[in-house]
Amino acid sequence: MQGFEPGIPTPIEGIKTSVQRILGRNPGPMTGPGTNSYLIGEKRLCLVDPGPINNEQYESFVQAIGDRELEYILATHTHGDHSPGAARLHETTGAKLVGLPAPEGIAQDKTFQPDQLWQDGDEIDCGEYTVRLIQTPGHVSNHICYLLVEDGFLFTGDHVLQGTTSVILPPDGDMGSYLDSLRRLQELDLRYLAPGHGGVMDKPYDEIKKLIAHRLMREEKVVAGLQKLGECSIDELVLTVYDDVAEHLIPWAKKTLLAHLIKLQRDERIVATEIGWKIV
Ligand SMILES: [Zn+2]
Repeated sequence: MQGFEPGIPTPIEGIKTSVQRILGRNPGPMTGPGTNSYLIGEKRLCLVDPGPINNEQYESFVQAIGDRELEYILATHTHGDHSPGAARLHETTGAKLVGLPAPEGIAQDKTFQPDQLWQDGDEIDCGEYTVRLIQTPGHVSNHICYLLVEDGFLFTGDHVLQGTTSVILPPDGDMGSYLDSLRRLQELDLRYLAPGHGGVMDKPYDEIKKLIAHRLMREEKVVAGLQKLGECSIDELVLTVYDDVAEHLIPWAKKTLLAHLIKLQRDERIVATEIGWKIV
């Protein structure tokens, strides 16, 4: 894909503010081409999601920053492919760390220690541009999207991905919150979505609508599956509900299925039983 060379700053076109995507050196089944880092600004800079610890990538950041000032490092969340690279940059540049501390759970970067207690709606004024924090729990509880206000350009981390759907891992991941967080985005003034993995999307409302519809379709498939199978275990149910998913992805599908089941239980449409789940 064009503009997807690791470590090389690639300008995003069509917006007023200078934003460059710097692709990480971590391609893989869960990261696609790699983690996208984004460098915002001309003079006063913000860096979104420095990615995992990687010396070469660190050097790429230093080079991209040049003699300008990196003021803020913005972490969408603290998964290992998004925030661990922040610590060294914070140390060497003095840039403030923005984001929420890591929740309990596996694959969480506990080294990420934000410089203050950041909150939904907080704005960072860098003169030439403004960044607003939009709290979007769901993929994980501490997820934040960052809105480049002047351009309606939203850095979506793992909340909205391009070409794939995000994994919701309970108990920290929460399908109900995820859907609410997607609906929240529909109320913002948006022109572009810039994901943590994949390319920039220029039809934000279509993408968000598609994602909500996709999750609700899956939810109905869960209900239909339980109606068909009767009381059953998650291992049985996953094969019916995710009959369109490749076999090697079934373990991941099972985790997202659990997130659907927990939501449906909360909505009082299903109940947990000794062997699994059943319709109310
Ligand atoms: Zn993630």
